[in-house]
Amino acid sequence: MDLLEYQAKELFRDAGIPVPAYQRIDRPADLKSLTIPYPIAIKSQVYMGGRGRLGGVRMASNTIDAIAAAHTIFNLPIMGELPKVLLAEAKFEIDQELYLAVVLNRSIRRPVLLGSAQGGIDVQTAIAQMQQVVVDQEFSPFYARRLVLKMGLSGDLLNAVTDVIERMYRLFLNKDLDLVEINPLAVNTAGEVMALDGKVSANDAALGRHPALAALDMRSGQGATLKESRPPGAAWLPDVLSTVDPDGQIGVLANGAGLTMATMDLVCQAGGKPLNCLNIGGETRSDALPEDLCERLEQGLELLSRNKQIKVILVNIVSGTLPCSRVTQAIAKFLQRPVSIVRSVNSPHDEVRLSRVKPFPSLVVRLVGVQLQEAELSLAKTPAIFVEDLDQAITQTLSLVRKREP
Ligand code: GDP
Ligand code: MN
Repeated sequence: MDLLEYQAKELFRDAGIPVPAYQRIDRPADLKSLTIPYPIAIKSQVYMGGRGRLGGVRMASNTIDAIAAAHTIFNLPIMGELPKVLLAEAKFEIDQELYLAVVLNRSIRRPVLLGSAQGGIDVQTAIAQMQQVVVDQEFSPFYARRLVLKMGLSGDLLNAVTDVIERMYRLFLNKDLDLVEINPLAVNTAGEVMALDGKVSANDAALGRHPALAALDMRSGQGATLKESRPPGAAWLPDVLSTVDPDGQIGVLANGAGLTMATMDLVCQAGGKPLNCLNIGGETRSDALPEDLCERLEQGLELLSRNKQIKVILVNIVSGTLPCSRVTQAIAKFLQRPVSIVRSVNSPHDEVRLSRVKPFPSLVVRLVGVQLQEAELSLAKTPAIFVEDLDQAITQTLSLVRKREP
């Protein structure tokens, strides 16, 4: 179960991690009775990351601007998700942004500390600088310190960041969390640190032991938020998402009703169990604007990947209007989206392998159309698997499902 930022910050505050003074905003008029001083940051409270990049984080220095910003953000879907509440918080002057996380490595069943001296919205840079320390014995501050040294920090900052990591770790342990992430942990010119963003995922299996945490679940049903939250008149509703087999582990995404059904049939014939099939459209000319198709592709991937039951997503796109390289660009963009940087850290000895989303489904991509080679090349840099032949793509999908079975 994921928490919203303001909920994560509540946990941070209780754990002694510095957070800005903040207030939850349920409607724009709440800003009239704001108790924190201006300037403030106003932030969309959605489960998606990348809000900064998409206009979901705005600064305001007076009430009029703040109310206007709140109106804008309330009506701005972030990857199809509209916020039900906003967060207003004291603006912090940023000199440096760090990335920090504590994450459970399932394969070795040990927590891992992650840190990058280059945090913030540029996820690729953060990943390039990522350092890790496996907590292989009982935790001691030594582990936190080792990470901070690896990150290249020194002096007072070393101590301040070590303290934050220790507190993140205790929180992680006490609440049985899967992930505690701070990005950015901002540093001002005075060397003070502040958690400006927080992501917390609780372990679903342990929620019974933490009723207060379980009560924070604001999400009703997978994907439902996406549907409900689209503004009236929005171009596309993912109501084409049909459940095929409730025990299924495969998500099928294709363009056009015929292709979607055919792909689903072939998967079933091969012995696979599709949970959901999603048609991103594109049969009619008006439906096939490249930007729209790419956006629907991204949204469709998001929708399918939110369902933890789906182990593999098979993308089958036969593209007349859209070069294959555009399709793979959209897929690559989706894979880079900073919902949260960390998800699975594979082995203590390997390089940190950072893939998106906890247990994020594998992606098998089959394309027909022009610029196939460019498409293949651009996917080669991502975890997605490119397969030219549909039968092979289906075989690959099934074998990945088997591999990922517990
Ligand atoms: P995300 O894009 O969804 O990860 O949202 P964040 O909460 O991380 O905000 C994105 C970016 O907005 C951060 O990396 C900061 O650079 C900036 N930001 C967020 N809060 C503040 C703040 O209080 N003060 C300032 N100056 N910048 C902020
Ligand atoms: Mn962030």
